[in-house]
Amino acid sequence: MSARWTKEQLEFIYKQTYAAAVAPALRRLSASIDSLNESSGILRINAKVPPQAVTVPLAEPNDMIRVDFPCHPEEPVKVDEHWNLDVACLVCGRCDGLLSQRRRA
Ligand SMILES: [Zn+2]
Repeated sequence: MSARWTKEQLEFIYKQTYAAAVAPALRRLSASIDSLNESSGILRINAKVPPQAVTVPLAEPNDMIRVDFPCHPEEPVKVDEHWNLDVACLVCGRCDGLLSQRRRA
């Protein structure tokens, strides 16, 4: 199986994981903090679990290779790591991009 996920898939997985595992754990923690507050007059901790408003981290599969163009170095292109054909500059269409800079982005 290839480990390539779209952002939507990752978002779905993240939300499912949060709902199934993270949120209940936080609620349990919140409950035990509440009971701690009741039994101790010294320590007061306020624990609130956000309902479901989760910031989904931006995730991108790490399988792209950057191609730099000597003609327009400010406009690099990212291609699939298995791409082995010429890549044309987006600005002028020349095909002398440098795949040598195998920088995972
Ligand atoms: Zn160019």
